[in-house]
Amino acid sequence: MTGSVLVVGSGIAGRAVARVLARHGRGCTVIERRESVGRGMGVNLPGNAVRALAELGVPDRALAGGVPVRRREYRNRRGRLLFAVDDDRFWHDVGRPVCVRHGALLDALPLPGAAELERARAVAARPTPTGVDVDVEGAPSPRHFDFVIGADGVNSAMREAVDTDALRPSSMTGSSWRFVAADPGVDCWTAWAGRDETFLLIPVGAGLVYGYAARTRGGSTGSDRSWLAQAAEGFPEPVTAAVAQALQAGELHHAPVDEVHLDHWHHGRLVLVGDAAHATGPVWAQGVAMALEDALVLGDLLARTPVEHWSGVGPEFERLRRPRVEHVRSATDKMSRLAALPAWLRDASAPVLGPRNYRAAYAPLREVSHPAAA
Ligand SMILES: Cc1cc2nc3c(=O)[nH]c(=O)nc-3n(C[C@H](O)[C@H](O)[C@H](O)COP(=O)(O)OP(=O)(O)OC[C@H]3O[C@@H](n4cnc5c(N)ncnc54)[C@H](O)[C@@H]3O)c2cc1C
Repeated sequence: MTGSVLVVGSGIAGRAVARVLARHGRGCTVIERRESVGRGMGVNLPGNAVRALAELGVPDRALAGGVPVRRREYRNRRGRLLFAVDDDRFWHDVGRPVCVRHGALLDALPLPGAAELERARAVAARPTPTGVDVDVEGAPSPRHFDFVIGADGVNSAMREAVDTDALRPSSMTGSSWRFVAADPGVDCWTAWAGRDETFLLIPVGAGLVYGYAARTRGGSTGSDRSWLAQAAEGFPEPVTAAVAQALQAGELHHAPVDEVHLDHWHHGRLVLVGDAAHATGPVWAQGVAMALEDALVLGDLLARTPVEHWSGVGPEFERLRRPRVEHVRSATDKMSRLAALPAWLRDASAPVLGPRNYRAAYAPLREVSHPAAA
């Protein structure tokens, strides 16, 4: 018996896990609610994300439409450089960091032929002793699978079978604006931190820049576009120019920035991966990397475990992955505390604490997440 596997969600984690299963000669069903994806906003992929993509068969050249992230500059609201980091050097033997459009990343990570895609919304899951019953919108009765992977993102419906109270706003910002606009001449990843707001601009290719605007010390950004224009006032010219261009002709997106906090990532033969299990504020841009690494570990575990032992896969997956994910979370909290200091103190301490936090956050992630993924 081969055992039936359902993957809910065809985002980063869902596509990646389907690819790992296919590599082991195992098919799966993938249920995805969206008909199509657009070009989307930007995603910054640090070296460990690029390495995980390579392990999934996605070479650097598949991301060539993006822009390598060689250097980061952290500046204050007036534009003074607080510290800079040489990303190229830090990640040189791991993977070259790159910023790409979200849609291009999905295109580079297609579902394998062994995966059967269904366009529908999975609305609920009920683990049973032999598998999981899943309710799918429009289907007259529940569908039964021997194993279900909830890769359905931060607002996961599958998660309801594990915990119903897992969402918390990120402590740095409860919501954010993201935009893509004409590049005002930014030559590297550059963040400007004000007292209450932070802006980040990263070149994303084709003469465009990806922008991110958020609160610095908690609370939410306004959801009206006027908030963005007002928040940019007084920031240096690249910020005001990019925001003005985004408001006039760019692409804009406002959304909550929520985190997922769970005691367990599994219930019986239902296992959550990526944001569904552990969404974390985007301070270190580790969401995609963690989703990909989850997929590499879970896909291998599932494929190597006989079907009759599949109820042990969830606990083993979590044992292997939890420490790394918790490391990212604690590094995120640490940087959020630095960002929340009064501006004068933050500006004074950032030149020392910033590079230290960067190394402390990323150095452990240079190691491969799990021997099975090597
Ligand atoms: C403001 C912001 C900036 C970010 N910047 C970065 C960054 O620079 N770098 C980085 O690595 N990460 C970043 N992230 C995080 C990153 O986007 C996520 O961690 C990553 O997309 C998680 O992938 P996923 O596959 O788990 O979830 P998703 O990408 O959300 O995919 C979930 C999929 O499931 C589908 N789905 C959802 N519900 C259902 C359902 N009920 N039935 C069927 N299908 C369903 C969705 O349509 C989607 O296709 C950022 C996040 C935020 C909020």
